[in-house]
Formats: sequence, structure tokens, C-alpha cells
Amino acid sequence: MPVPAYIQVILPLRLEWEPYYSLPEGVKVEVGDRVRVLFARKEYVGAVSAVGVTPRTDENRILPILAVEEGLPRVLPDEIQFWRAVSDYYLCSMGEVYKAAYPALKTGQEEVEARNKERLETRLEHLKDKAEKARRDDTRERYKAEIETVEALLRGEAPVSVLAPVTLSPAQEIAARTARKALADGKTVLLHGVTGSGKTEIYLKLAQETLDQGRSVLFLVPEIALSRQLEDRIATVFPDVLVFHSGVSAARRSQVASCVRKPGQYLVLGTRSALFLPHHHLGLIIVDEEHDTSYKQDAPAPRYNARESAIMLGVIQKAQVVLGSATPSLESLYNAETGRFVKVDLKERFHSGDEAEIRIIDTVAERRKRGMTGSFSRKLIQEITDTLDGGGQVLVLRARRSYAPSVQCTECGKIPKCPHCHVPMSLHRGPDRLECHYCGHSEPYTGICPSCHGELQPLGAGTQKVEEELTNLFPERRIARLDGDTPDTEEAAIIRRFAAGDIDILVGTQIITKGFDFDGLSLVAVLQADSLVGQQDFRADERAFQLLEQFRGRSGRRGRPGRIVIQTREPEHPVYARLQGSDDADLLAERKLFGYPPYTRLIHITLKDSNEKRLDYLSKELRNALLAAFTEADTPPAVIGPYAPAVDRIAGESIRQLRVMLARNKALTALKRTLAQAVSTFGKERKYAAHLVVDVDPV
Ligand code: ADP
Ligand code: ZN
Repeated sequence: MPVPAYIQVILPLRLEWEPYYSLPEGVKVEVGDRVRVLFARKEYVGAVSAVGVTPRTDENRILPILAVEEGLPRVLPDEIQFWRAVSDYYLCSMGEVYKAAYPALKTGQEEVEARNKERLETRLEHLKDKAEKARRDDTRERYKAEIETVEALLRGEAPVSVLAPVTLSPAQEIAARTARKALADGKTVLLHGVTGSGKTEIYLKLAQETLDQGRSVLFLVPEIALSRQLEDRIATVFPDVLVFHSGVSAARRSQVASCVRKPGQYLVLGTRSALFLPHHHLGLIIVDEEHDTSYKQDAPAPRYNARESAIMLGVIQKAQVVLGSATPSLESLYNAETGRFVKVDLKERFHSGDEAEIRIIDTVAERRKRGMTGSFSRKLIQEITDTLDGGGQVLVLRARRSYAPSVQCTECGKIPKCPHCHVPMSLHRGPDRLECHYCGHSEPYTGICPSCHGELQPLGAGTQKVEEELTNLFPERRIARLDGDTPDTEEAAIIRRFAAGDIDILVGTQIITKGFDFDGLSLVAVLQADSLVGQQDFRADERAFQLLEQFRGRSGRRGRPGRIVIQTREPEHPVYARLQGSDDADLLAERKLFGYPPYTRLIHITLKDSNEKRLDYLSKELRNALLAAFTEADTPPAVIGPYAPAVDRIAGESIRQLRVMLARNKALTALKRTLAQAVSTFGKERKYAAHLVVDVDPV
């Protein structure tokens, strides 16, 4: 009798092991094949992770597979190796990574069609439109040249993948040379270039060189909006660029996956999920705006950061990795300090203009002098007036969308809160409603207090209110708003109108800072900067600095000095000093002093439960379980908590957190595994696994 052949299969579930199956006689599979199997009486399509194995479970209980899914593409060994790396690092299951890499939707469609012609035609139309609207001769000429090339491509004359060669400025050339050398030594490069220094040109140059050597390129951006902008720029050099993010239709994404899977070369421009394409022969991975927290997936697992994961993928693919930012993450600065990365600086702007001037306005002092009108100081109003009179454009940042962040009863003082979360609800206009920004709960706004029937009054000003104030202050100006309430369909139009000079003042939340390159922008105003800094989280200041620095980069491009005006109640805050040129080293030193990341590794364990008593009890029990698991360790990690986070009830569930800080030494990997094991055992023994979330390197 032939011995049955056993295999292991990765299932799209939160399973900590890969279950065994047997193969019916005559059926052969290889690692990576997709198979249909039964698990807990349900059918799943999994990926074979091992063949010819000796099962460690009772052989009588092993089921045969139901079928081999011939129609589905085979998962490459490199992909499985990458999933393994992600699952080890982020303490999640292989199944969770598999699910992220092969969402159910993607498995359906497999037709391969490049649709090159259609894309080129769209591009041509777009270019003609741009050429017509161009305000400068040299820009128009550039578009015209490109139109000719695209037309030639459409006529089938030039089936090339590289159109215009990238020409670097001398400063960029020096940076590229340093980068090449470090990359050749196997180092990750951190390109630290001020906004407008032309990091994109350097990426493109390196990409071109990689493609010339016959290898592929993955270009990562943190957000879809950035991808849209870069797509045009990249397509002028590589018309065959494959775009991959959640804004692309599922059918198109599956086409991109098919194109990548084919033997040839490719260049993919995408958001973090593009890491999970079936990559092969990757020569270069670019991570633009590497500091951006959008690279981190918060939920569901894998809770991975694309920056760290890109490096893992780079190792597997033997690809070079370039991270770039005007405001590198402390994590990357630390890696540069320890020699793991090589930092390459690019200190001058391509269109050398002066750095934006910074002016800090103390709103407490202004209010005392009666210098405030609503959200605006008289000084800022003057700045805006001068800018507009001089023909410039203005961006106004207010970090909170809504009309008012909260409302309060004038009679009884009550502040209406979300029935499911411990947070005040924000007032939104048109139609008037109260909205919870945590769970999305929304109810009509009547202006009447639900408990005493007194009158409700808006507290503070969100973006909608700021827009209203600006309309009153500058009635003759064209004013628009861009925030989370802006429909997706209008977002691009607003950005285009602002770029074309058809809007004088643009108000918005953080989204208005993202990479936009506006010729006419000369003043950036930040209202209530305190809502960016001064939160309890030790990472808030780093993020506030990055945001403000990026914001500064948005103003005064093309040789015109810009201005950034910051209104704050706390003008002495160190974030502003750093903005005015104090050293990154100071921030690192502070982190070192307190033993915070990047000098340690941080892991958050979040517990959620609608039963608060049980939650409190089990949070403490979990802390004890962790301490017990760590007793043997030479450098036992610090376990902080359980504590209630700033918002401790969301969508009807109370929240507690444990914070574990691990030393960055040789024992780290083993200790992480111990932690994962302890959490998993706890989850099983207490039947509490569904309430626990482990997050490695939370942001
Ligand atoms: P960064 O990404 O560093 O903020 P960009 O890549 O957006 O900078 O470059 C800023 C501006 O300078 C862009 O308009 C870009 O087209 C232009 N630029 C930069 N380098 C070059 C170059 N080598 N040749 C032509 N234009 C360049
Ligand atoms: Zn809520």
C-alpha cells in the first residue's frame, strides 16, 4: 500500500499553524499550489507551504484535499518566504498575511490584458489639456515633446519602455553617486532631501538604471493621492508603469498581478499592499516619504509597516532599497546612526528659492491684547491680505474636520457624547448633524440639549467654521475646503483648481499637505498648532514636526520665498525650535534618555471588551502572565499597564492597553516569540483570544 503523501496548507485564517492534509492517490502538488480544502467543516482555498512532510498530528484525523485549483496562479517561493518574514516580525499568523496578499476578490479574475493603447490615449488627452493650460513656455514645450512621443507610441513606432532619459542637476548627481556606492555595498540608503530638492528625479534615475540591468522596480508611496500625482511624472519616463492601490479597480489590480507574475520586467507604483504582489527579479525598492504613518497597517493583521517590510523583501529579492524623505523617521535616523543605513543628504532645492520664513504667533498673548477675531489673529489676517494682494495663494491648516469639535448646553453645561464611545461628538453642517469621529455614529442636530432642553452652543472651530470665517473676512476671494468630508470625487478637482490658480485660499486638514506641488502658493497658515503637538503620546511631537516641515515645503517653490505662520498657545514648544533649525540629534537623545523607540522595540497589546469588569480583571491577569513568561530573561522587557488609552471606549467596547518595551539586543527575537506565545496561551486558556490584538512597532 502506498504511503499517503502529506502536505501543509496556509489557510486564510488566524491560525497559528499550517494544517496537514493528505493527497488522494495520483494527485501531485508543489509548494505554492492553490488547493481547496475543508477546515472546521468550511471550504477554503489555501496555498501549499510544504510537501512530503511527516505530520505531527494523528494521521487518522488528517483529511484529503478536495481539489487542486488549477486556474489560480501558483504562489512563488519568494512570496511565501516574504510572508514568513512578515509573520515572524509582526507576530501574526501566516494565514493573516496570505489573506492580505491574496484577498478573496483577487483570486477570481485572472485575465491578462495590458490595455496599453487605452492608457496611452487617456494620457495623450491629459497631456494636450495640460499643454493648453500651461502658464510657462518651457512647461508647454515639455508637454509638447511628450505628446509627440506618446503619439509615436500610439502609431506603434517606438515600442520602448523608457521615454525621456532623466537628467540630474549637479547636486542630485552627487547624491545619486553616493547612493549607488552604498547600495552596491548592500546598504539601505536613506535619502534625506529637503522638499523640492528633486528626490523623485533621483528615484527615477536609479529606477532607469535598474531596468537597464534587466531587473524590476517597486516604487512605494504612502497614499493614493501621492500615487496619482507621481503617476504622471513617472509615465513620462516609463509609460508602462503599473499602478496598484485600493483606488484601482479589483479587475485592474488582478491584471497588474498577472503582469508582474509574467517573466518580464516591470515597474510598479503602489501603496503598501503592492509589497505582496508576486515579485521576482526585483532590483530596486523605493519607499518615498518613508516617515509617513500611512505605511503602517493598523487593522486587520498583518499590522505591518511597509518601510520595514520593504527591507525584508529587499533581502529576499536581493534588491536594493532606497528610503526617502524630507523629514526622516527617527527609526531611520537611528538606523543611519548605527551604520545599518547610509544617509545621503540633498540640502538644496532644485529651483533654488529661499527657505520659507517661519513666524510663530502666540494666540494667548494676542487674545489678551484683543488681537484675535475668531480663529484668526489680526497679524495673520494681515499676512493673508498681503499675500493675496501680491497675487499669491494661501493654504490654511486646521487639524480637525467639522464645524465645531464639540457642542455644549448653555443651561446645564452638558457636552453630548457618542453613545458608543467616550468622546464628544462633533457638529457638522449641511445637513446639520452630530458625528462621532471614532465609530462614525451620526445623529441629526437640533440645537437642543437632550437632557434639559436648553440651547446647545458650538465649542471651538473645525475646518467648516474656519472656512465660514474666511468667507466673512475675505468675501471677494475664492475659498475652498478639503478634508475628510470632501467627497472623493471632488478631491482631485479641488487640487487641480488650486494648482491652476482658480482658488485663492484652501482650508483643510492634514490631507492638504500631502506632496502637492503648487506654483502659486506663498503662504501657509497653521491654526491651533497645539492640537498637533502636546498630546500625551511621546511620538506626537515627531509627527507634528514632520507635518509642519512638509507644510513648509509646500510654500515658496520655484524661486519665490514663502512664509509659514503658526498660531499656537505654546510658542515655546520644542517642535517649533526644531522647525527653526535645532538638531535631529536632540530628539534622538531624548528618546534614548527615556528608553523610548527607536532605542527600544515597542509592542502594544490591546484588549477590547464590552464587559468592562471582565476587561479590567483579564488585563491584569495578562500582565501577570507576561511577567511570568519573562522571568527567565536576562534583560526582561518593561511591561507598562494595563492602562486606559486616551479614548477608552469605542463602538461600545472598552479598551485597555499593555505596553511592552524590549531592549534592542540579540535576545529581542526570542523575547518577541516568548511574548507571542504567552499571549496566545493566555487567549486559549481564558477563551479570550478574540479580545486581544498584538501590535509590533505601533505608530
Ligand atoms: P522632492 O520630491 O524632493 O520634494 P521633486 O522631485 O518634487 O522634489 O522636485 C521639485 C521640483 O523640481 C519638481 O517640479 C521637479 O520637476 C523639479 N526637478 C527636480 N529635479 C529636476 C531635474 N533634474 N530636472 C528637471 N526638473 C527637476
Ligand atoms: Zn462613537
